[in-house]
Amino acid sequence: MAKVRLEHVWKRFGKVVAVKDFNLETEDGEFVVFVGPSGCGKTTTLRMIAGLEEISEGKIFIGDRLVNDVPPKDRDIAMVFQNYALYPHMNVYENMAFGLRLRRVPREEIDRRVKEAARILKIEHLLNRKPRELSGGQRQRVAMGRAIVREPQVFLMDEPLSNLDAKLRVEMRAEIAKLQRRLGVTTIYVTHDQVEAMTLGHRIVVMKDGEVQQVDTPLNLYDFPANRFVAGFIGSPAMNFIKARVEAQGEALYLAHPAFRIRTNAVLAQALRPYAGKEVWMGVRPEHIGLKGWTVIPEGENVVRGEVEVVEPLGAETEIHVSVDGTLLTAKVDGHAPVRPGEKVELLVDTERLHAFDPETEQAIG
Ligand code: ATP
Repeated sequence: MAKVRLEHVWKRFGKVVAVKDFNLETEDGEFVVFVGPSGCGKTTTLRMIAGLEEISEGKIFIGDRLVNDVPPKDRDIAMVFQNYALYPHMNVYENMAFGLRLRRVPREEIDRRVKEAARILKIEHLLNRKPRELSGGQRQRVAMGRAIVREPQVFLMDEPLSNLDAKLRVEMRAEIAKLQRRLGVTTIYVTHDQVEAMTLGHRIVVMKDGEVQQVDTPLNLYDFPANRFVAGFIGSPAMNFIKARVEAQGEALYLAHPAFRIRTNAVLAQALRPYAGKEVWMGVRPEHIGLKGWTVIPEGENVVRGEVEVVEPLGAETEIHVSVDGTLLTAKVDGHAPVRPGEKVELLVDTERLHAFDPETEQAIG
């Protein structure tokens, strides 16, 4: 186990700045996920930690050791790639043993580690098979096994589940979480899938355009997104954003739109007061909007009227897209609520869960 620390790390490819001033310190045994849209610099950062990519500027430490100039094989890390990179001509046992043989680990020790990893991963019966005789999920396990036998200080994983179908991905996600808990090895995991990030990470690093947007626990990212990008990236379906005017009336503070006026709670009111008379981005998650008569959200100064455009039943819940004076709002409502396209509806906004963002900086207000 070891901490991984990045201090003011930059990566430039010619004129392209792939990673800008990246700072992070993991805990021992922590599971940290890098997430963000394609091209945001996740893989490049991981590859710099692995030593597969040179650092343009800054320092990377694994444990207490500065590793900027340490070759990958001496960094005491094990990497799991998206394509697994198994050797096709070797069987599972040999694939897992290969790295250890190169390191001249004694034969009995190799045997012990491979068998132990195979037992943990439930692939003992596959040890004599070649990769082509395995399913995608089994290959994925072998790739994990090859990392485990190294007994490294740090696991680095780059989208290890992206070649699996949706169902298997969910299963393997749970397996990886369990495995990481059991082994307690510090893990850095790259994905563009926010659900994977939320379910796996003790902490998540949200990136955009080479820059870290927020580092936080899954729940804090959801409840207290630092800016509009994070707010829109975490959560599904995405948060609604509506331009609204801040109106002060004595103690009360309202977010006003031509079609509705919502009274904010005391906490948001205080944060919004300096914006009185100005426009801000109001943010509200689809699950924090209810259909009147079908929600526990109490009615007050929080009613939004509109016309249903699209209805998407998902079973327990139904997603509805409602046009509010030309602005489309997505709401997640009770799956049994009888809503039809074209119908006029009254929505109730949970004012305890409202967000607001500065129109220029897009930083969260409050
Ligand atoms: P994805 O999810 O698509 O893998 P990512 O977040 O991992 O994306 P990176 O692969 O780290 O993104 O790429 C970050 C930026 O650096 C991108 O703009 C990419 O085009 C650029 N980049 C990456 N590798 C190189 C390279 N070898 N030469 C030039 N530019 C590169």
